[in-house]
Amino acid sequence: MKVVLQNLTKIFPSRDKKAGKEVVAVNDFTFEIPDGKLIGLLGPSGCGKSTTLYMISGLQKPTSGKIFFGEDDVTEVSTENRGIGLVFQNYALYPHMTVKQNILFPLQNLKGADKLSKEEMDKRALEAARLVQIDELMERKPSELSGGQQQRVAIARALVKMPRVLLLDEPLSNLDARLRLQTREEIRRIQKETGITTVFVTHDQEEAMSISDLIVVMKLGVVQQIGQPQQVYDDPANLFVAKFLGTPPINVLEGTVRGGKVYIGQEAVLEVAGVADQPVYIGIRPEGFVLDENGPLSCKLSNVEVMGRDVSIVSTNPASLNPVIRSIINADNRVDVTSGTVRYSIKPHKFFLFHKDTEERIRFEVK
Ligand code: ADP
Ligand code: MG
Repeated sequence: MKVVLQNLTKIFPSRDKKAGKEVVAVNDFTFEIPDGKLIGLLGPSGCGKSTTLYMISGLQKPTSGKIFFGEDDVTEVSTENRGIGLVFQNYALYPHMTVKQNILFPLQNLKGADKLSKEEMDKRALEAARLVQIDELMERKPSELSGGQQQRVAIARALVKMPRVLLLDEPLSNLDARLRLQTREEIRRIQKETGITTVFVTHDQEEAMSISDLIVVMKLGVVQQIGQPQQVYDDPANLFVAKFLGTPPINVLEGTVRGGKVYIGQEAVLEVAGVADQPVYIGIRPEGFVLDENGPLSCKLSNVEVMGRDVSIVSTNPASLNPVIRSIINADNRVDVTSGTVRYSIKPHKFFLFHKDTEERIRFEVK
């Protein structure tokens, strides 16, 4: 089922009637979520991810704009009648019910033509439990389960009604690091097996990048960029997106373009065609540096961290906005730690320019 968001906007009145300003939580969001895909809705806390999800679910009413499931306009349809499955960060299971009773619960509330026989309900509950691999735990209470298992029960409960759309709001945030990794792979597997169109909200870029067909990066209620994870990483629309994706993060430096050359300090680090003279922000991915004793960029060497396959070289440069510049180099390279200086040439496709004032991307051709 494709999901269409059309000029979706949510404005909250100010909490403090006198002093406060209203909050535009989601600002004119238009997007067609393709059928059967998993969309990662990504951005820092407060950027409008949950509000977007709640509008898709019907828990929040848009201030303006429309939502379609397939060809159906569901903007005015209640949450119960949208055919969605919802999973939140806190699993919100009924503590006095067994796993099985928790999963059955949404089915027991079905009315009229949707009403199911007891056998049909049991069958569905078992199917959902099998899908998330908790069918052995059906008679336990939530208190007898680990966090990861509780979240699986919550997912089974969301799936049991066979939703048209699955909505997940930071579902892994309460799990420890290892479980988080495992459960996100699980969610991806379930999503692929069922083919349910899914929106997955997270502030964790790595999480979104690793499981999404498409990511939507948001900032202050405004969509910044939509695309396949690798495509957005390789081709960020602006400085915010470039900084938000990637670990270690992109290195940002101040520079200038003069006569077709990009300068960091006095050093011309790259020749570019088609860019007017101006001050710029320069973004260089950690993997964009090449050790090169004749390279144009020199940095003061601080430290070399061995990470097995790679080494991470920590250095400084007066033009850097981050306290240090971090490059990732294949461990076969030998770095002379005693020299005090490290010189780099730069891979042009890992090197981005941004307008100093708007922070939008400046495109260039490599000479
Ligand atoms: P996220 O999920 O990305 O962290 P939210 O969608 O929860 O962000 O919130 C977006 C913005 O809307 C924030 O500035 C938040 O304070 C504001 N907001 C969210 N819910 C309400 C509400 N019920 N009343 C007023 N402001 C709200
Ligand atoms: Mg949220």
